[in-house]
Amino acid sequence: MKAIFNFASGPGVIPQAVLQQAQDEFRNWNGHGCSILEMPFTGNAFKEVMHRAKEQLRSLLAIPSHYHILFLHGGASAQFSLVPLNLLGCHTRADYIETGHWSARAILEGQRYCHVNVVASNRKDGFTRVPQQHEMQPDTKAAYCHYTSNETANGNQFHYLPNSGRVPLVVDMTSDFLTRPFDVASYGMIYASSQKNIGSAGFTVVIIREDLLDRASHITPQVFHYKAQSEAHSLLNTPVTFAVYLAEKIFRWIEAQGGLQIMERNAIARSHQLYRAIDESDGFYRCHVELSSRSLVNVCYTLQNNTLTPLFLQRAAERGLINLGGHSALGGIRASLYNAMPETGVMALTNFMKQFAEEHRCDV
Ligand SMILES: *Cc1c(COP(=O)(O)O)cnc(C)c1O
Repeated sequence: MKAIFNFASGPGVIPQAVLQQAQDEFRNWNGHGCSILEMPFTGNAFKEVMHRAKEQLRSLLAIPSHYHILFLHGGASAQFSLVPLNLLGCHTRADYIETGHWSARAILEGQRYCHVNVVASNRKDGFTRVPQQHEMQPDTKAAYCHYTSNETANGNQFHYLPNSGRVPLVVDMTSDFLTRPFDVASYGMIYASSQKNIGSAGFTVVIIREDLLDRASHITPQVFHYKAQSEAHSLLNTPVTFAVYLAEKIFRWIEAQGGLQIMERNAIARSHQLYRAIDESDGFYRCHVELSSRSLVNVCYTLQNNTLTPLFLQRAAERGLINLGGHSALGGIRASLYNAMPETGVMALTNFMKQFAEEHRCDV
């Protein structure tokens, strides 16, 4: 079988070793004589998987004991509502930093629940960079300050920690979660849905500081109530058991690779190789994101001659380089380089790009 490299933005690539192990034990998990898919979520066997997954994550990120880990339904998109529902408390205002597609979606949803103060936005620049600290105008009365650490569709990423003062910082880390170490204690809350670096689609990790756990509005649905779910160990109703099972394997895989430092080193190596190929193409390929804000995870670029984009995607797919199309609203090319993308995948992509550029440089 020829090598396939999957650059999908989500659900994204999963380590082959993890897929293989899941396949091996798919019909008879741990000698139970049935599949993990068939195990009751209330039974000790599954509860143990849930527990181990959380402990493994706690160890990977060195999560302090006063932070609770929840696995919730509804994807990161549900958190766009659940953050205000759970965190506003007696506040009526919240701060949001706007850096692209996903933070804009969080803002739209947040506006249904409170007064949203957009602290900073680079919409007028086409989201080609993230704002700098001095451009932000925080509101000291805000319940929290929300931002998106990596804009999956726009290809920009924060390479510094925004300072929100005494206002708790809340981050949508969906697409760069576990691609680098970070200090959990700098945040009030972190969330990430599972289909980007945690394996299969199905749940959203919420890591929340204890003092923020019990602020939910009385209308918050019980399964989305942070404190209720924390007390129930994320088992208030049936979780996506398979996704949790797979995540536990992914966390162990990351640890076996050497942990988050190695994930970061690989992310830097992969993305730099690709950006170099773009920047050294004499303008055939262009990345519009400013150097200091470029994402190490989702590399977004365009062809100078946009009419060649469909041909580029077709030829790439013929080479086994699949799912390279940009976000549906933005077009162009997007290579998502999640943890499980081997460096050989990026090499295959850059080799293809050079060849394609040579063949089509004169087509205008
Ligand atoms: C993919 C993504 C989302 C949406 O996740 P769902 O699980 O589909 O709701 C939100 N935010 C970011 C940054 C993403 O990359």
